[in-house]
Amino acid sequence: MIRPLKLLLPFATLPAIIWLLLLLANANAKANALTGEASLYNEADNVINADTETLLPYLRTTPKGKLVQFINIFCGDCRRFAPTFKDVARELYKWRSVISVYAVDCAQERNVKICRDFQILHTPTLRYFPPAYSGNGLGINIQTTMPEEIIDLLAGYLARDTDTALLHFEPLRPDSTANATIAEHRGHGHSEDYIALVLQPRGSNIGRDTILELLPYPAVAVRILDDVQIFANFGLAAHDQKLAIMDLAGNILALKALQETSQAYAASIAEFLAQMGRTPWPPLPTTRAPKISTIRNKEKLSILATVMREAPRVYRADLEQSIDTLLHIELPKAGLIEGNNLTDLRNIISVLRHNNPLNKDGQLLLTGLHDSLLTIDRLTGLEFMELVKSQEKGLGNVFKAHRYVGCIGTRPFLRGFTCSLWTLFHYLTVAAAKQPHNLEPGSVLDAVHGFVKHFFGCTDCAQHFLAMAEHNHIELVADHDAEILWLWEAHNEVNSRLAGDTTEDPEFPKIQYPSEMDCHACRNENAEWNRIEVLKYLKSIYDTKNLSSYGLPTAWVF
Ligand code: FAD
Repeated sequence: MIRPLKLLLPFATLPAIIWLLLLLANANAKANALTGEASLYNEADNVINADTETLLPYLRTTPKGKLVQFINIFCGDCRRFAPTFKDVARELYKWRSVISVYAVDCAQERNVKICRDFQILHTPTLRYFPPAYSGNGLGINIQTTMPEEIIDLLAGYLARDTDTALLHFEPLRPDSTANATIAEHRGHGHSEDYIALVLQPRGSNIGRDTILELLPYPAVAVRILDDVQIFANFGLAAHDQKLAIMDLAGNILALKALQETSQAYAASIAEFLAQMGRTPWPPLPTTRAPKISTIRNKEKLSILATVMREAPRVYRADLEQSIDTLLHIELPKAGLIEGNNLTDLRNIISVLRHNNPLNKDGQLLLTGLHDSLLTIDRLTGLEFMELVKSQEKGLGNVFKAHRYVGCIGTRPFLRGFTCSLWTLFHYLTVAAAKQPHNLEPGSVLDAVHGFVKHFFGCTDCAQHFLAMAEHNHIELVADHDAEILWLWEAHNEVNSRLAGDTTEDPEFPKIQYPSEMDCHACRNENAEWNRIEVLKYLKSIYDTKNLSSYGLPTAWVF
């Protein structure tokens, strides 16, 4: 039923397209190898990892439908959705002649551009692109994460968009006969030796779904009948007929299926084909039970061992990483920044300018950004990125470690950015409470709230945090100490929700912080919080002077 690719493409362009696809595959593999980026998906899942360089060429040149998932590797919902998406992608392997599946990680700096261009405001975001996508438009949002619904929507799009020379989703005409159908089949250059006839009553998609179900069988094309009477034109008794198969000599056989489902219809046709010695394409090999990968890199292992051995510390490297990611990835992903969004951008930069653990050049960078933003009424994420780059010109290296230390996870995808962000937020509340007070009480929470509302790429985190801000009355926080404690309580609320979740690193369990062992005085004999002691503990552990520089390059100038 599926004609070879070459029949779809102008002859002269085929080598060029194959060459381009090979180039893309190679670029993709190289990019992952160079960055050492772990990815949630791979080709064994029937998912191709794409990025700023490769996504558009894939979308434009692959003559099939395209399903793209935009993710943020640090977003819990993306990681929780990954097993489901793998199931969907594996299921779609059957349809690989008409659809390809891609994933783009918006948390990677090199993907900021493509995620901004495609206006990815939430993750995970699923988009469908038609075979003839020319680069215009952002694709169709698939607003469900239920596998059956995704597959059903895709079936509808593919039936609408797939070249009729490839698959016939439109029903046969009422006057169709065996000879006319065979002639049309040959006329379209189809190479299949059999034509299955499937009755699709009004309002049903059973014919459409049988066509898709049988894609792995190169020996059969499927035609839909929307009226049982048409079977009579093929020499079959029209009464109660639902399924039949015909060879190209016009010999026709009525088939029975165990149920009225596309799977049962396809099974019945497959059984017939097997008797004729016709086999399907091999299925996607089942991957072995996923081995839980652990860190192998020696340097990381040594950091992990040190962090786990030492008493709890706050590491400068994590704070640096969070600011680096904010400036170079999270904030530049925005579209147009104006009005409240601009105020929120100015607020987070202002809070960072006042209190940050960066070196002298880092201070200059943040001051330059802060001052420039005051002179601008509106800007895009791209312009913000350019502003950052222009401010960085002439400065020394601000972000040196490029690694998580206290936020290192024991497995890929665990901890990292969101851990460093919490760490930064706590650090900022504690720094703001120190004399001389250079920020109004509530300024840090205000900035955090604005950032989370308008810029945080972790959609589920943002939704939960904003709801928590409302029910825990963030607006009532009136002094610096209350600000520290509000954030501590909020974080514990998140910890309690996520304890035991699949996104939890078993070596760093979500506890009600601080632990009994780390701060005995923080709880009274009834295990209730002693807020005065908690405040003391937080002010000590998040104090600038107690930060650990472990994991940073040694030649470090503050
Ligand atoms: P984290 O929870 O990230 O904590 C980082 C470090 O902060 C800990 O190692 C510890 O040293 C310290 N710490 C822990 N608790 C406290 C506390 N109460 N007070 C002070 N210090 C503390 N993920 C989701 O799946 N769903 C969500 O809704 C969600 N909401 C989030 C909201 C925000 C604002 C942020 C920044 C992140 C959110 N996350 C959410 C991510 C999640 O909270 C964790 O960051 C992630 O699971 C990584 O956890 P972790 O083990 O590294 O520790």
